[in-house]
Amino acid sequence: MTNLFSRSLVLLLPLFLLCTACDASSGKQESLPSHPVDSSSASSMEEAAEGPAPSLATSSSEASPAPSPSSYPVTDRDLTSPDSLTLLVNKQHPLNPLDYAPSDLVSWRGVELRQPAAQAAEQLVQAAASQGIELQVLSGYRSYQTQVGTYSYWQQTYGQEQADVASARPGYSEHQTGLALDLGDGSGCNLQPCFAQTPAGRWLAEQAADYGFVIRYPWWQHETTGYWYESWHLRYIGPDEAAAYRQSGAESLEDFWGAGPAPHYN
Ligand SMILES: [Zn+2]
Repeated sequence: MTNLFSRSLVLLLPLFLLCTACDASSGKQESLPSHPVDSSSASSMEEAAEGPAPSLATSSSEASPAPSPSSYPVTDRDLTSPDSLTLLVNKQHPLNPLDYAPSDLVSWRGVELRQPAAQAAEQLVQAAASQGIELQVLSGYRSYQTQVGTYSYWQQTYGQEQADVASARPGYSEHQTGLALDLGDGSGCNLQPCFAQTPAGRWLAEQAADYGFVIRYPWWQHETTGYWYESWHLRYIGPDEAAAYRQSGAESLEDFWGAGPAPHYN
């Protein structure tokens, strides 16, 4: 692990100096980012290395049998219909059509989400607040056209290679599904690796599945998901699916749904 971590720092630091991980454009403004949204540091990486285990296998279900670590992949899900709650979007699985826009978007706390995701997210935010965790909504649905502008900005400013690190190509962003959102806590750790160590980040890691969300890009799964650790990026898949995911021991939706890794674009 020490060697892996040392290697990760060597690999990661140049990237973080520019921007990181995120599918970028994380601000809720529609305008282009005026700053690297996810700048990080070695110290925050160290904190992240101590972060919660990517597997959220701390199921609290009492009655159900012990989860089997081999209870995935589940291969009967609809991963391709754009309105499916189990739609898989990553660097190997773009939206179809590329400029897909959900038909059930609703406004919610300053962003847009698909209706079922917004309803669940409201319950999540209220539950957190009742326990003293004040969550901020940083980003929700982003349209194809918004992503065209964001990606183009990175491409023109830093070149395609870095653009593909910092930003999703249009049609490949999970935010375009209307089922993904970024949450923060107003601390200096918004959209940064150290968010995982905040009370809000820890609460989300433990509780988000109860509301149908998964932490989409967990620690050390970037070779599978195609994105660096983003403890603030939640994806709605529904409560039953999130419970099954948590109990399965899978560490990415790619693994859980048997879709194969998606480390980069074709
Ligand atoms: Zn995000």
